Amino acid sequence: MLEATGIKPVITDNKACLVLYSGGLDSILACRVIQEQGVRVTAVQFITPFFGGSLKGREGNHVRAVFEKYGITLEVVDISDEYLKMLKKPPHGYGKYMNPCIDCKILMIRNAVRLLNRFGASFIATGEVLGQRPMSQRRDALGVIERDSGANGLLVRPLSALHFSATDAERAGLIDRRRLLSIAGRGRKEQIALAERYGIEGYPAPAGGCVLADPIISRRLKRLFRLYPAMDAGDCVLARVGRHFILPDNSWLVVGRNQRENTRILSMWRENDRVLELDGGPGPSVLWRYVSKPLEAMNLAAGILCRYARLKEEPGRVRFSGFKSEEDVIIETMSVGQEIVEEYRI
Ligand code: SF4
Repeated sequence: MLEATGIKPVITDNKACLVLYSGGLDSILACRVIQEQGVRVTAVQFITPFFGGSLKGREGNHVRAVFEKYGITLEVVDISDEYLKMLKKPPHGYGKYMNPCIDCKILMIRNAVRLLNRFGASFIATGEVLGQRPMSQRRDALGVIERDSGANGLLVRPLSALHFSATDAERAGLIDRRRLLSIAGRGRKEQIALAERYGIEGYPAPAGGCVLADPIISRRLKRLFRLYPAMDAGDCVLARVGRHFILPDNSWLVVGRNQRENTRILSMWRENDRVLELDGGPGPSVLWRYVSKPLEAMNLAAGILCRYARLKEEPGRVRFSGFKSEEDVIIETMSVGQEIVEEYRI
């Protein structure tokens, strides 16, 4: 598998480590346990269309905040395109929904392996805990992740290390195995006690869940991938905001649910998208993408907007704008009924 990744890492005697950082307690603890041994730690946080995206554009502030709060030196690395490619066809398959947990971990660790030289590091650590997650933290899955990421022998899991054989970093004396831990299972008690011992405070509660394991978003993504095989990271980010509809010409309509989403949706406009807004009144912002037959689907798109602008008896004037070669167009239409919403909503 090393050949397949094009990477041939070898252990060096640099007392430096890259730690995969998610912002959660386990990754903070992994950094701490390694730092405690006098090893220089650089934490790496990956951005994909499905996690870490909120850091985009404010990476500097985030890096400073993590250092001030936890004393951890952080690098933020965007792997969106590579992630999306993997997500469309994960070699180890999906979990219950669109979560490709094993390949997700493989991809992140493989990227960390590629970064070893850049940061002068000689091994990688993660906050993974044996048996904590059903899909990606079983013993066999952890073995597959190590092998297929090209990190064989270089991957230390400091929180669970004593459940595994010694890694090259331990054998080379870069870290002392006796000071690594044997946490396993789903409980959090040991991690919380460890956090107290290290004086780590204000760490986030365990995350509510990955968007790729969300049944509604997963179903939507599946449909969108089928319709638009070339969809990109920007499309995936858009798929997470607002209400979504596929119209008869296979175009994609996204309707903001509140002011924050309206602003977000408009910020994602790009060439060839149309923007729909109620002319002269309050209503949601709507982005219309991959439009192939605008004249056929316009009335329906405007009717959907009117429904969410809560127009009932009276018609709404909907402005279509934003398309480079067209003048703004205004059409007047009635709100669609619930059955139409259900027919086209994804
Ligand atoms: S839950 Fe989401 S972020 Fe975590 S490993 Fe699975 S796909 Fe990746």
